[in-house]
Amino acid sequence: MKLYPAKVQKIIKETSDTYSYILDIPEGYAWTAGQHALWRFQDYEVSGDEKPGRVFTIASAPGDGFLMFTTRIAEPHSNFKDILLNQIKPRDVMLVANPLGSYTFHDGTDRALVIAGGIGITPIRSLLKDMADKQNTSKKVTVLYSDDRGEFAYGDFWNAVQQTLPNLDLHLIDDRNAFTEKTEAYAKQNGSDAEYLIAGSPGMNKAFAETLKGLGVAEDRIVTDDFRGY
Ligand SMILES: Cc1cc2nc3c(=O)[nH]c(=O)nc-3n(C[C@H](O)[C@H](O)[C@H](O)COP(=O)(O)OP(=O)(O)OC[C@H]3O[C@@H](n4cnc5c(N)ncnc54)[C@H](O)[C@@H]3O)c2cc1C
Repeated sequence: MKLYPAKVQKIIKETSDTYSYILDIPEGYAWTAGQHALWRFQDYEVSGDEKPGRVFTIASAPGDGFLMFTTRIAEPHSNFKDILLNQIKPRDVMLVANPLGSYTFHDGTDRALVIAGGIGITPIRSLLKDMADKQNTSKKVTVLYSDDRGEFAYGDFWNAVQQTLPNLDLHLIDDRNAFTEKTEAYAKQNGSDAEYLIAGSPGMNKAFAETLKGLGVAEDRIVTDDFRGY
């Protein structure tokens, strides 16, 4: 497996326990919005009982001009996350493998609902930034971004992207019932005329996919990104 060295530029604390790592794009490295990759440390050793790498979404779009991943580091956490939290600093080098995956919006619908739980927002940031960079304003995208604690990543990014994408309807939700109710209301109104991108833990994704199917949404209109490991 080819690993590319990527130098850390800066680390941003997004919420009380969520951090974004911004890195230089290594020579020859390319990805498309919504993809993920395996990340490792170059100069720090992960303790023996753990895997040396983690899969994180590339939360930046190619047009950002930098690589970024965002991760939640709760208590307790793995040794890998402890190194991210307490050792990795600007100018350190991380190793990133070739990107994988094809999580994205598809042509064929003029509207989409994004159902993102917590850290599941990472590929959505990449996809929306890419849309904005390409001035692709044709799709009406409704984003339901839910976090039980009401802590949302990417602060000012949302205002900036809404300036370019006037069709973006963003809902920051801190109540699980409201998350489900808004999803159901949208599905009842739009059915299979819309596409549904779900991004979160496998359990969350399964539950929302079942809800949508139960409301008559065609299976091929439902796209999931499973964050295995949470
Ligand atoms: C396609 C894909 C994309 C992904 N994208 C992202 C992404 O963008 N951002 C992201 O953060 N993750 C992403 N993930 C998930 C990521 O790969 C990790 O699985 C996840 O972050 C968990 O990391 P961790 O194993 O280091 O555990 P941690 O996050 O440290 O912990 C996971 C759970 O285990 C518990 N735990 C950990 N250590 C201990 C311990 N010593 N004792 C007791 N309990 C413990 C924690 O409390 C927590 O509940 C993605 C996964 C996939 C498959």
